[in-house]
Amino acid sequence: MVKAEGVHKSFGHVHVLKGIDLEVAPREVMCIIGPSGSGKSTFLRCINHLEQISAGRLWVDGHLVGYREKNGKLHELHDRDVAAQRRDIGMVFQRFNLFPHMTALENVVEAPVQVKRVPKAQARERGAELLERVGLADRMHNYPNQLSGGQQQRVAIARALAMEPKLMLFDEPTSALDPELVGEVLDVMRGLAADGMTMVVVTHEMGFAREVGDTLVFMDDGVVVESGDPRQVLTDPQHQRTQAFLSKVL
Ligand code: ADP
Ligand code: MG
Repeated sequence: MVKAEGVHKSFGHVHVLKGIDLEVAPREVMCIIGPSGSGKSTFLRCINHLEQISAGRLWVDGHLVGYREKNGKLHELHDRDVAAQRRDIGMVFQRFNLFPHMTALENVVEAPVQVKRVPKAQARERGAELLERVGLADRMHNYPNQLSGGQQQRVAIARALAMEPKLMLFDEPTSALDPELVGEVLDVMRGLAADGMTMVVVTHEMGFAREVGDTLVFMDDGVVVESGDPRQVLTDPQHQRTQAFLSKVL
């Protein structure tokens, strides 16, 4: 579902991603951990077209991200083709980014109606189902400021799912939450994983990574230092940098 080959990203003189190679299979849950500033968010943003890679190749669902290849040459995609690629990817951020002037249901219905031209009644029906799925059937008509952080983040997940993505990216989805609200969001993500959603999750929740992740990737300073079975990486890290990081967070 995702393949990165020698992906580099620089911002001016700042070299952030220094050759990322990894693959995410359909239905796989990959968790990414690593120190602040190691390039985790930048990598997710490259997958989701929020940043353009500086070198290497990146594919989502078999398609080159942002480019098409013809006779060995890369051509930038037109905006509408980029939009079509992005539609298949859902992203959930640390900050919930809901539209504050819209109810939970309106937030969920917005993109399918505006972007996919789904008829409003149908989108509302599907939106209500999704909010029920994330445990918010009784909160549909509340505005974001009437919801807890955990509830807002669950609306954000439902909103991403409304576009029927093939791939879901999560960038520290529970880092901004009060500790007692973390579990309800992780439960929703656990359910998604059980339903077979392909997920890439940047997280500090090592318990989640161990129980739900198929693969755990440790990134440091723009490279993948180590990756593998989460239990193995967490209990028997092979690299000194992984050991040093884990000794600080576990
Ligand atoms: P992480 O998510 O692992 O904490 P980030 O991907 O957010 O790391 O950032 C990695 C590095 O890239 C940081 O040093 C950050 O300052 C830099 N960076 C990220 N975005 C930009 C940008 N738009 N312009 C310049 N530098 C950036
Ligand atoms: Mg980050």
